[in-house]
Amino acid sequence: MRGPLGEGYVSEPLELIADEVRSCTRCRLYQTAKQGVPGEGNPRADVLLVGEGPGFHEDVQGRPFVGPAGKLLDELLARAGLSREDVFITNVVKHRPPDNRDPRPDEMEACGDYLDRQIAAIRPKLIVTLGRHSMATFFGPAARISQIHGTTKPWRDMLAYACFHPAAALHQPRFRELLEQDFDGLPRALAQARERANALASGAPDSSPTSETAEQASDEQLSLF
Ligand code: SF4
Repeated sequence: MRGPLGEGYVSEPLELIADEVRSCTRCRLYQTAKQGVPGEGNPRADVLLVGEGPGFHEDVQGRPFVGPAGKLLDELLARAGLSREDVFITNVVKHRPPDNRDPRPDEMEACGDYLDRQIAAIRPKLIVTLGRHSMATFFGPAARISQIHGTTKPWRDMLAYACFHPAAALHQPRFRELLEQDFDGLPRALAQARERANALASGAPDSSPTSETAEQASDEQLSLF
């Protein structure tokens, strides 16, 4: 699968990208979804949250994270001192996979261009991945979320920060504490990301470690989310 942000992407209006998503037929997902869910939030956000795909409520409303997982996300953001006005929220695929199944590699490949262009338009400093499919996009397919959640990784001139998906805690309460740990570590990750961006902008050599633990990762093999 092609990674996001191929070279040469230029900033363009987010609404232009959203309009293309709403009329997109590049992969099969548009056939079963009610509508495209491009994403929304602060167009100049330092923090971009990337989930996996719209669910039932998102498909109905055309907005990201508006169901129970979205309510939990709001609570988690508040723990980190953030609100929806501070961030931009989108997904790896913009149409709902039927029955909330995992997005398939060819669907993520087809949809990747929209995420690329959103990143180029927003220019966030920190990309927060929610769930394993989003994580794999930025941390690589070999990464295991059970081992790297709560850690950062340099990604271009940004940092990526891996978190479990909020829906995980809705299905299995034991994930709640892990999610809270991940979001408690978010302010530190954001500070690191801003520091790195400032250093790179001033021409300083990149001294970021390959991966840094912001919270101690669980040893459990939690591969579902
Ligand atoms: S999921 Fe992405 S690529 Fe597939 S139809 Fe929707 S917008 Fe297009």
